[in-house]
Amino acid sequence: MFEELQRLAEIAIPGTVVEVRLRCGTPSCGCHRDPALRHGPYPYVKYRSPSGRSTGVYVPREREVEVRRAAAAWSEAWEVLVMLGEANLEDLRQRLRSQRKARARSGRSAGSAGKGGKR
Ligand SMILES: [Zn+2]
Repeated sequence: MFEELQRLAEIAIPGTVVEVRLRCGTPSCGCHRDPALRHGPYPYVKYRSPSGRSTGVYVPREREVEVRRAAAAWSEAWEVLVMLGEANLEDLRQRLRSQRKARARSGRSAGSAGKGGKR
């Protein structure tokens, strides 16, 4: 699972690919008066920056497949991470449980006299 996570992490981007129609930089172009004359649709990666601002990156059509794969890798990586996290949590539960058992078995003296005792 770590190999998979690493593979995904190497390409993952945090966003979703949407199609947008844009106005160009030429003020005299029709796209500035009529939304129907806007250019596109182009693929565009929408994402929320760490500061919470919604922003995006224009994607050239020839990079679309690659970028869609990268966006999918993000959620796949997330799923793997959630699974790893649950496994770690289950690990912790078992360790705590066996620790409690071991302490109960060794009796009161070892439990309270050890360095894990009162602080
Ligand atoms: Zn235009």
